Amino acid sequence: MKNQRVAVVTGGIGGIGQGTSRCLLRSGHRVVATHLPAETEKAKAVQQAFASEDLNLEIMPVDITDVGSCTQLVEEVEAKLGTISVLINNAGITRDSSFKKLTKANWDAVLQTNLASLYNMTHPVFEKMCAQKFGRVVNISSINGQKGAFGQTNYSAAKAGVHGFSMALAQEGAKHGVTVNTVSPGYIQTEMVMAMPEHIRLAAEAQIPVGRVGLPEDIGRAIDFLCDERNGYITGANLPVNGGIYMSF
Ligand code: NDP
Repeated sequence: MKNQRVAVVTGGIGGIGQGTSRCLLRSGHRVVATHLPAETEKAKAVQQAFASEDLNLEIMPVDITDVGSCTQLVEEVEAKLGTISVLINNAGITRDSSFKKLTKANWDAVLQTNLASLYNMTHPVFEKMCAQKFGRVVNISSINGQKGAFGQTNYSAAKAGVHGFSMALAQEGAKHGVTVNTVSPGYIQTEMVMAMPEHIRLAAEAQIPVGRVGLPEDIGRAIDFLCDERNGYITGANLPVNGGIYMSF
């Protein structure tokens, strides 16, 4: 094993979360995949599937919108495995509708889950990462945070905010060996994307220059690269992983 650093992947039993957990385990991390408290059975099934691949995935519950739940998770991880060196803020939701029809509840839910949660999860681990002079925080944004998307004012606002958080915190972590980066996936083959109306999904797929939707491991490998201890010179960056569908500086 190259390293035994402790990594926490929020939403670790979801589509991209599983791909990320798998990549981090294969590079030698000890990985805690979090799940919503109501999803214990699903999490156990994912854990079993990983075990059949000889991968030892830890699972723990958290609601990332609840600051107390996040503090408790961090304490439990530390008690069981030790200090958290790698945090992947991956959990997220969509509640799409045109702005005219967007309810305040769906605005709030998306902002709380996709953006405000970054405080809840990162605050209890950041100082300890700085103290141990090593840390990797990777925040998952989206192509639609970079360019906006019809029907996603809530999601695009939250995901654009994610990279603002990364750039600011990167400046606070830099002197302490803690990097903070963003990964912005394009269309990835997960339940979230497969739940899109079929005509919209197929139209989107047809536009992807590499000719296919991404796989969760496409994102997982990018995240694992940013978490490698040799890659401490990359911080405050956004890494788009989108098959070329949106190119920018
Ligand atoms: P999934 O729906 O498969 O996974 C999302 C995960 O978030 C689920 O595992 C869910 O937990 C968890 N989650 C949701 N709400 C909470 C909460 N309040 N507290 C804790 N966990 C929560 O989605 P994806 O894997 O597709 O998405 C992962 C990330 O990638 C998201 O941030 C998404 O916005 C982003 N993304 C995805 C793209 C795609 O093409 N799929 C494209 C661009 C960005 P549980 O399983 O327990 O319900």
